Parts: sequence; structure tokens; C-alpha cells
Amino acid sequence: MDSKINYQLELDKLIKSIPAGETPTLLLHSCCAPCSSYTLEYLTQYFSITIFYYNPNISPEEEFRKRVAEQKRLISQLPVKNPVSFIEGEYKPQDFYAAVKGLENIPEGGERCFACYRQRLEKTAYLAKKLGFDYFTTTLSISPYKNAAKLNEIAAELSGICGVKNLPCDLKKRGGYKRSIELSAVYSLYRQDYCGCVFSKREREEHERLKQQREDRS
Ligand code: SF4
Repeated sequence: MDSKINYQLELDKLIKSIPAGETPTLLLHSCCAPCSSYTLEYLTQYFSITIFYYNPNISPEEEFRKRVAEQKRLISQLPVKNPVSFIEGEYKPQDFYAAVKGLENIPEGGERCFACYRQRLEKTAYLAKKLGFDYFTTTLSISPYKNAAKLNEIAAELSGICGVKNLPCDLKKRGGYKRSIELSAVYSLYRQDYCGCVFSKREREEHERLKQQREDRS
């Protein structure tokens, strides 16, 4: 994992190398509408994008359905240069639990998350290969809580295995995260307060409980 690489500069170079008049295809894994908002605003200037909503990590199912609906609504409302298509991945939470088996109690940001990144990127890379996309990537690097170096490392490895190019990204750079918050407000997007899995939900609830305890004592 090389945290010294500036993936935004890598992306700049790649975008500059696109021949005039060409619009490469990109299969973009998305975790939620807010994270995809700036990503779409930015990348649809250069790519013909299909959103792949594949997130078996999300719990409970009601939350998954809510995030899918918001994703579709955003696609239908966001003005973009090149139209965006949508593919909904299968929701099989048992696949997520199998991928993170033994890592359940590792705090957010550690090995459990790396396995979760890999599962979603792997599905995206293989689908990109199957459907003949030029590139694949994910919205995940827009979050300050996600490890962009690890995401890019996994994507590069999968690119070598699948034979589809990965788009190097660190979408939080250049104010991407801030812009996603602005766009979320403009489109009144539902913004969840936990990452997605049942473990992150528990961590969040525990954090809130301790905060409340501290406030009650002071
Ligand atoms: S905290 Fe987020 S990235 Fe980590 S395992 Fe859970 S859903 Fe996946």
C-alpha cells in the first residue's frame, strides 16, 4: 500500500491522455447517492458512466432499499454531460458475512473494511470485464473514513487479474467530499450516519451512547 501516490494526479494524467472526441466507458461502483453525487458531476465530463450499486454489506435490508432508491433518484435528477445508466447488484448479505468472517470485531478502518472493499471492487471488475467496459472504479475514496491507498491498491491488483483498467481515484481531493455534502443538500439526499454494515451500526450506536453518558455526567 503506497500512501505517497497522489491518485488525483494519476487521474489527471489519465484524463489528459483521452483522445479528443472520445468518451471511454466506466463502470462505477457506488456505495450511496451522496458519495456518487460529486463523483458523477466530475467524472461524467469525461466518461460514459454506468453506476453499479453492489453493496451486500449494508444492513438491514430496509436501509439497502432506501439507499438504492436515493441512488436512482439522484441519477434521474442530476444534470450531467453524458447520461448515466444504472445496474442494481444482487443483495446477498450472506456473501458479505462470509467475506469478513473472523474480522467482525476489528474496528472500522481495519482489515474488515479491506475485505469489504475487495468484495465490492472484485464484483465490479469482473462485471466490467464481462460487459466490455474500458474502466472500473468506486466512489468509496471520496469518504475521509476510507483508505484511498488501499482501495487503489486492491483495484490495481484486480485490474491485473481481470484485464480491465482501473481508474485511479482519490475523490476527496480537490474538495470532492465537501462538494458531495453541498450536492446532498441541494438534492435533499438521505445521508446515513453509519458506514453500512451491522458492525459499523453498532460502533456508531456505542459511540452515541458513550457521548450521551458523558453529557449526562457533565
Ligand atoms: S465499516 Fe463500512 S467498509 Fe467497513 S466493513 Fe462495514 S460496511 Fe464495509
